Amino acid sequence: MKLPIYLDHNATTPCDPRVMEVMLPYFTDLYGNAASRSHSFGWQAEEAVDYAREQVARLIGAEPKEIIFTSGATEGDNLAIKGAFEMYAGKGNHIITCVTEHKAVLDTCRHIEKLGGTVTYLPVNKEGLIDLQQLEAAITPRTILIAIMYANNETGTIQPVKEIGKLAKKHGVLFFTDATQAVGKIPVDVIKDEIDLLTCSAHKMYGPKGVGALYVRRKNPRVKLTAQLDGGGHEKGMRSGTLNVPGIAGLGKAADICRQQLEADGQRLSQLRDKLENALLKLDATYVNGSRDHRLPHVANISFNFVNGDGLMMGLNKEVALSSGAACTSASMEPSYVLKALGVEDDLAHSSLRFSIGRFTTEEQIDFVIEKVTNTVELLRKNLIIS
Ligand SMILES: *Cc1c(COP(=O)(O)O)cnc(C)c1O
Repeated sequence: MKLPIYLDHNATTPCDPRVMEVMLPYFTDLYGNAASRSHSFGWQAEEAVDYAREQVARLIGAEPKEIIFTSGATEGDNLAIKGAFEMYAGKGNHIITCVTEHKAVLDTCRHIEKLGGTVTYLPVNKEGLIDLQQLEAAITPRTILIAIMYANNETGTIQPVKEIGKLAKKHGVLFFTDATQAVGKIPVDVIKDEIDLLTCSAHKMYGPKGVGALYVRRKNPRVKLTAQLDGGGHEKGMRSGTLNVPGIAGLGKAADICRQQLEADGQRLSQLRDKLENALLKLDATYVNGSRDHRLPHVANISFNFVNGDGLMMGLNKEVALSSGAACTSASMEPSYVLKALGVEDDLAHSSLRFSIGRFTTEEQIDFVIEKVTNTVELLRKNLIIS
């Protein structure tokens, strides 16, 4: 077996070979600028972009016109939040979000506060879920946007998106969801879920890095955003800049494959994930973080008590590539703010591992990982007792 085994698909996914194949001609023969209207090079590029727009729209139940191509989810998060804040300044300046959001949302909200906006950061329960009554109580006449992620990148916990959409509509507030981890993995439908703005990213769904999409609803209501990049007026004036044609073609293909394989992939991955999780839970003092009922099919975040977090990582990372519950911020190792928000103690957060499996993960690899992690945890615990 080839080592190390990659179990960090929430950080990024490998590009599917079928996606790469679709992209390649746009680097070589079909290198036109999609905005060139006067020759076939431009037309061919535009055709590829239009096709990808349809593919992405179809995956999330949107209209092609509602898809704005971006450089990824970080840009989409910034454009949705800052763009709505500027556009709807006449209505209010209050945004509601949640403490376990991705930094691309949280840091953007901090920026909004510096600009004079007010932000409510909803807490989560120990499963990682927001409370809908708390959400409704937080809405004021000045609230313009609810920004709650679809599924969490560290735990895989899926928020009650449909209910949030319903509440937002009832109060005439826009609902934005960072669905980067959900799109392509579980069914996402902007109509059924009553979503007004949604962001996703190609490299989290077996497409290339540096390209993503922002869904902007065009009716009931028609959502407008103030552009954050000014220039040639591309993407309906919401996002200027020459389009990344190969990347966009790849995103489209990635979306198409995800749509076709979503159910089968989800079933296979949840079986593998459950096998991994159930085997590791046989160890003493081992806990799952986040909701087990409302969770992405391919994610397991597990804490191993009485194990040194650094030791665990060092014991594993030659053979298994995964993320820990500690994040490197500057020089120090901080326990994950997401796990802390669920009430996980610092020590336990440090000795947590995020397993995120993917389309090309095999059962043989999972069996190897079960044995490797089990042995490493047992060894570290033995050493702890001896020393
Ligand atoms: C990865 C990720 C992002 C950032 O996406 P990029 O395309 O890398 O900018 C934002 N939000 C969530 C939930 C993510 O998982």
